[in-house]
Amino acid sequence: MKIIDRPSLAELTTLRLGGTAIAEIRLDSLEDCERLPEALSLTGGSAHVLGGGSNLLAHDGDLPITLVRPLMGSRAADGRPAEPEILGTEERTDGRYTLLRVGAGMRVPFLLSWTVKRGLAGLEGLVGVPGRVGGAIAMNAGSYGCSTAPLLRSLTVFTPERGLQELGPEGWCASYRHFSLAEPCSWYMSASAVLAMKQADPAELRRIMQENFLKKKSGQPVHEHTAGCVFKNPEGQSAGRLLDEAGMKGRRRGALYFSERHANFLAHDTKCGIAGRTEDALALISEARDAVLERFGISLEMEVKEWPAWR
Ligand SMILES: Cc1cc2nc3c(=O)[nH]c(=O)nc-3n(C[C@H](O)[C@H](O)[C@H](O)COP(=O)(O)OP(=O)(O)OC[C@H]3O[C@@H](n4cnc5c(N)ncnc54)[C@H](O)[C@@H]3O)c2cc1C
Repeated sequence: MKIIDRPSLAELTTLRLGGTAIAEIRLDSLEDCERLPEALSLTGGSAHVLGGGSNLLAHDGDLPITLVRPLMGSRAADGRPAEPEILGTEERTDGRYTLLRVGAGMRVPFLLSWTVKRGLAGLEGLVGVPGRVGGAIAMNAGSYGCSTAPLLRSLTVFTPERGLQELGPEGWCASYRHFSLAEPCSWYMSASAVLAMKQADPAELRRIMQENFLKKKSGQPVHEHTAGCVFKNPEGQSAGRLLDEAGMKGRRRGALYFSERHANFLAHDTKCGIAGRTEDALALISEARDAVLERFGISLEMEVKEWPAWR
């Protein structure tokens, strides 16, 4: 375990925005999870679990939060990226599945290329999605027909109320961009997960992945500083299309703007000479919500998580 004083959220998030937390507690093992309550009582502030920071909008200034950062599964002892652990295979009516244990700190792009190389299907829609396994599970991240929750077989989680526990599918509730534990808790942190991935032809998976990547590259601002889609898609609708038709594409305040490439991506222009302010991001988000509500009568729900998240 390592405790870092006053980490900058701007440096830890893909949107490159946000102030300073009280501390960051880095966890490398399950033993570190056992020591977490003591570490949190030393740092103070409310615990906020950080993955890759790719779905976050953090406020500016001094924030009354401590970042809890599970890095299990990110690095092996020799410093190279850790690999998933193969636990075995199982036969189902629709084919053979391989069970993998992965740490919450493993980077999703690494897991994706590792699995595709070995002909393990299920993540190929997540090409171009940054972040870590714990964050992908917490967001039930998905695209192009794939999402994380259907692959989950079990999850090792820490909660302040119950400590470390291994949960089966009855232990969580998942839906579109939503994941929560079935039993109430003040907050939770995934430490590792067992994924069941269907065996498939590696060449075919590579082809699907490349096709998905090209689609993503042509329609999304993959080279800008964003936190992915700001809003969830309302049932049967595309939030991007609604925002575009409501005139939000390219709308700007200070260093923040809705991308010209995709209106549901709020981006931060870090080179324009104006300091990026979360206040501007929030004002744009509020403007966008109002515009879509007024034009279509649809109330958009945030996908990006605003921090601090007051409980
Ligand atoms: C260029 C770009 C493209 C994107 N494309 C997509 C896409 O196609 N589909 C999609 O779904 N998303 C997309 N996203 C959004 C984002 O990458 C995903 O939501 C991602 O899964 C978040 O993972 P993270 O590790 O970065 O989580 P973070 O941003 O660090 O955290 C997000 C939430 O997860 C919680 N969390 C993180 N780790 C844990 C843990 N171990 N235990 C419990 N809670 C945890 C945090 O507390 C927070 O509430 C994109 C983002 C970018 C920047």
